[in-house]
Amino acid sequence: NTLRYPSETIAAIATAAGRGGVGIVRISGQNLAEFARQLCGSLPSPRMAALTSFRAADQSPIDSGLILYFPAPHSFTGEDVIELHGHGGPIVLNLLLRRCLDLGARLAEPGEFTRRAYLNGKIDLTQAEAVADLIDAASAAAARSAARSLQGEFSREIDELLDALTRLQALTEATLDFPGEEIDFLESANAFGQLEELQNHLDAVFDRARQGRLLQEGLHVVIVGQPNVGKSSLLNCLIGDELAIVTPIAGTTRDIVSGTLHIEGIPLHIIDTAGLRDTDDEVERIGIDRAWREINRADAIILLVDSRSGVSESDRKILARLPQQPAHLIIHNKIDLVEKDDCRAERQENGNSVSLFLSAQTGEGVELLRRELLRIAGWHPAENVFIARERHLQALAQTREHLAQACSQLPQLELFAEELRLAQRALASITGAFTTDDLLGKIFSQFCIGK
Ligand code: GDP
Ligand code: ZN
Repeated sequence: NTLRYPSETIAAIATAAGRGGVGIVRISGQNLAEFARQLCGSLPSPRMAALTSFRAADQSPIDSGLILYFPAPHSFTGEDVIELHGHGGPIVLNLLLRRCLDLGARLAEPGEFTRRAYLNGKIDLTQAEAVADLIDAASAAAARSAARSLQGEFSREIDELLDALTRLQALTEATLDFPGEEIDFLESANAFGQLEELQNHLDAVFDRARQGRLLQEGLHVVIVGQPNVGKSSLLNCLIGDELAIVTPIAGTTRDIVSGTLHIEGIPLHIIDTAGLRDTDDEVERIGIDRAWREINRADAIILLVDSRSGVSESDRKILARLPQQPAHLIIHNKIDLVEKDDCRAERQENGNSVSLFLSAQTGEGVELLRRELLRIAGWHPAENVFIARERHLQALAQTREHLAQACSQLPQLELFAEELRLAQRALASITGAFTTDDLLGKIFSQFCIGK
């Protein structure tokens, strides 16, 4: 396994900014012995912590701490790696880092250590992504799923699918050598049974990945409705004491306000829009245009109405303009203001729209809304979720598409084989074969520095 990456030595502070008991500077590259000699006298034995003192160019002490040496290829990056464990203060850590840069290291770019690990074959692409997702995990469920991906559970599933696909391809290619009897040959080898099994396995993996994407990326929910029906109140009530920051999205006076809450570990991004009404006010107009942009990329839309008036003529106009695709929730708010039996109807379902009744003020009925949002998300609690991203889901969907195409090409075996090849390509892109530099750049730039 040769190193494909030019091993410029890189260094970065690997621990979080701020004060802590211990702070770590990580260095990765080649020939780190000279580096260690200048810094603290010598390299310790591989993988053994040694207490030492880190010295400046004039030999004055910068800090004392532990040095660890992980020789290539048995390190995180696959290159020689040194870790300097010093005291976790920002100034002292920066002095230590500065010293490493003076000795010839370059400051690592975000994600560069992990990128080298990937390029050196230490981890595949889904594992590299899982590193970032584990660090960014906003809930325990998301962290558990990321850890599962990091340990290679997702990659193993993909590899199994690839194996099955490759076997099927080999069988098909071999068959092409027996013109005239292809289909008989494939039938006797149970090729179609294998294909069906492959498709079932793919569906199962897709479902787990879809749950993982939900944990990672969450659901975008937009609240629309007339002014004063209680949109802001509902947002506040949902966010509750979650300590989520309600942030105005800057840009217009009629700001769009959004907040994130977690239900069973799934991030729900709730967006409160400006009231959607016809207006001549230029500024309000801008807010409304913005609201429509949010609506068009939402996973679910809440139309909020006042239960005293129900769905009005203007609400019907809004409903008529809503995109059909994401689910609609028609929420009757302020049920505390109407007679008990008047309007406290049960959940009503009508095509892709569901009606619920609640009070953002008293909180009555809000739990039903939370459960409804989970239902819309398609969440079913499972222990074996692995973290996944939109990119993975798209590749899995493409694979599925090509397998379906393959079937429809029969009995034209060449076309069947070609679709299998395309399916294989889509599948392999998940773990990293056939990836472009663009994609790699995009994935690794989302990391924090030092990882
Ligand atoms: P928005 O313009 O749609 O964002 O509406 P707001 O959230 O600003 O609420 C408008 C008014 O309705 C405020 O005075 C709220 O206190 C009140 N309000 C909101 N929800 C309820 C509710 O469920 N019951 C009652 N009684 N008042 C509510
Ligand atoms: Zn409001």
